[in-house]
Amino acid sequence: MTEQVINLKDFNLEELENYFSALGEPPYRARQVADWIFHKGAGSFADMTNLPSGLRGRLEHLASPGSLSILKRQVSSRGDTVKYLFGLHDGQAVESVLMHHSYGRSVCISTQVGCRMGCRLCASTLGGMVRSLSPGEMYDQVLAVQKDSGIRVSHIVLMGSGEPLDNYDSTVKFLRNVNAAYGLNIGFRHITLSTCGVVPRMQQLAGECFPLTLAVSLHAAENRLRDKLVPINRKYPLDILMQACLYYTGKTGRRITFEYALLSGVNDSPDQAERLAGLVQKIPCHINLIPFNPVGERQYKRSSPEKVKRFRSVLEQHGIEATVRRELGADIDAACGQLRRRAVLEKEL
Ligand code: SF4
Repeated sequence: MTEQVINLKDFNLEELENYFSALGEPPYRARQVADWIFHKGAGSFADMTNLPSGLRGRLEHLASPGSLSILKRQVSSRGDTVKYLFGLHDGQAVESVLMHHSYGRSVCISTQVGCRMGCRLCASTLGGMVRSLSPGEMYDQVLAVQKDSGIRVSHIVLMGSGEPLDNYDSTVKFLRNVNAAYGLNIGFRHITLSTCGVVPRMQQLAGECFPLTLAVSLHAAENRLRDKLVPINRKYPLDILMQACLYYTGKTGRRITFEYALLSGVNDSPDQAERLAGLVQKIPCHINLIPFNPVGERQYKRSSPEKVKRFRSVLEQHGIEATVRRELGADIDAACGQLRRRAVLEKEL
């Protein structure tokens, strides 16, 4: 474990300006450093050749340009998915996934170490939440994936370990930095943020007016079942969640993506598809049906292809657009949290 120093990627440009002004440096230093850390992904201050050497030396002691170590890397048999386990400065670890699509390359990042939301379909929550990530630690995942793969990422998905809206301020700062001209300049339309339904924060996010895609992990269209699968439903049940979704679409003009993992004999009957169609009828949305990746500690099984087809056709009969998510990397512990979980169980962390 190394001693923690300030990760400069935890700042936005204004905060960098204040930081350098406190060091007695002119304001343009902040722009120079922002370009190095956010845009060029410099791994050390020594690389920042347009800074005076005295300043570079001071920064070596005071701050870190941020970096993660690669603890594990798994490549799927088809080569379309690479999963990373990254080590953080305090000995913790998080997962990120690089995925190749027809439309570009996306990286799915984590926003917390573990998660406290307790969703029954997810490995990330099995050991509870350890801590939230800083904005710089989120940003570093994107840069580390780019650096290792040599690939420029076009899309970002906040769907790894953690509930992004349970780490709201850091997540929003990360989003602004990654979208900024001094950063990776990734458009909000190329960013998807997934939530299990933290309603007050969904409303707050709507107020930011980022035109990103909000993905809501629904998994059930009736409260009794959703209370079990996604426990935050006990606090914010479906009618309140649907109002928040409607509010979000009204404020941002973006439709919601509802994530629905099909579990054999649990939520995959034609009746449940009818109920789902009724629930989302008034909301501009798209439904993503997910072939469930079994998690060792849970008893759920994935639905058969016939059941998935039937479920989708019921939705379509009601005019609701639904797609079945392309399976990526099932052979590499691709479900959220499985790689870190295995490392914890095998006492590698
Ligand atoms: S699905 Fe997301 S919100 Fe739910 S426990 Fe897993 S990481 Fe947390």
